[in-house]
Amino acid sequence: MPPHPETWLKVRPDGLYCEPGDFFVDPLCPVGRAVITHAHADHARPGHDAVLASPETLALMDVRMGAGRAGAVQQALPYGEPITMGEVRLWMEPAGHVLGSAQVAMEWRGSRAVVSGDYKRQPDPTCLPFVPIPCDVFVTEATFALPVFRHPPAEHEIAKLLDSVALFPDRTHVVGAYALGKAQRVIALLRRAGWDRPIFLHGAQMPLCAAYERLGIPLGELLPATVAGKDKLAGAIVIAPPSAIADRWARRLAEPVVCNASGWMRVRQRARSKGVELPLVISDHCDWDELNQTLDDVGAPEVWVTHGREEALIHEAAKRGIRGRALRLVGYGDEQEDLPDAETRSPAAA
Ligand SMILES: [Zn+2]
Ligand SMILES: [Zn+2]
Repeated sequence: MPPHPETWLKVRPDGLYCEPGDFFVDPLCPVGRAVITHAHADHARPGHDAVLASPETLALMDVRMGAGRAGAVQQALPYGEPITMGEVRLWMEPAGHVLGSAQVAMEWRGSRAVVSGDYKRQPDPTCLPFVPIPCDVFVTEATFALPVFRHPPAEHEIAKLLDSVALFPDRTHVVGAYALGKAQRVIALLRRAGWDRPIFLHGAQMPLCAAYERLGIPLGELLPATVAGKDKLAGAIVIAPPSAIADRWARRLAEPVVCNASGWMRVRQRARSKGVELPLVISDHCDWDELNQTLDDVGAPEVWVTHGREEALIHEAAKRGIRGRALRLVGYGDEQEDLPDAETRSPAAA
């Protein structure tokens, strides 16, 4: 009988620790060996001795933290290439969350666990789609794990934005989108919808957009919003960090229509309190249906749940005979959607 994953994949204060492989997955503090699912700040922290991640994630960590700061020794592991870490066979598959995002599959003595990091099932032109991996334990996020959260197709939300631009041709539409993943997805979706004019960027959005282009994701013509005059920005679309859309920075724009691209925009109250005129329900996380669909797709008899509304998902999984466990790891959040973050408040952002 293969050992149960809880005997070899342990919950420690620093994160999930794989004992026979002697490494952590997405550790919350600097450790000896870290395997990183994706480059968001709550999963990828600096200062490890050795780091293993997808090539794209390593490149994006360099941009976010400064070259080499993720770890002294860095190893790039492309999707689908198994390696051995200690006694463990490990490989990565796409998670569909942001460019380079990976699920970490681990196998020890015939027992298999998959840590999915953050993931979504909606198509995204900036990253490869999520691949379901059959396993004994599936570790899932639960950011939007309540039945109230249902994300419409992102294309519908982009159409809403373009309708508004057509309706108010003299105003600037400023879209709040976090700098890693969301901004590039919104831009790529606008291009697909036929928006071929330049898209203007807040300074904080420039480095990661440039990195996406270097990594092979074309985003079309991007210009800094700061150098463009107010009249040039009339009728234009500007992408900015969520923290900047309702503050002094946005007032320089021509009668801005404040938009925000986030799964939280489903909650009207939340949009209103943030001064958002046009909420766009675009999320890089699964909604309630996607989470439940994924549990069925991977077919694991047991699911471990992190960051978010663990109880609702565990309750729903139990109805289908899936055992649930809340990991209660403190430190994972939903990126820059709410948390103040160095990235969105750098001096360059002014
Ligand atoms: Zn993330
Ligand atoms: Zn996360």
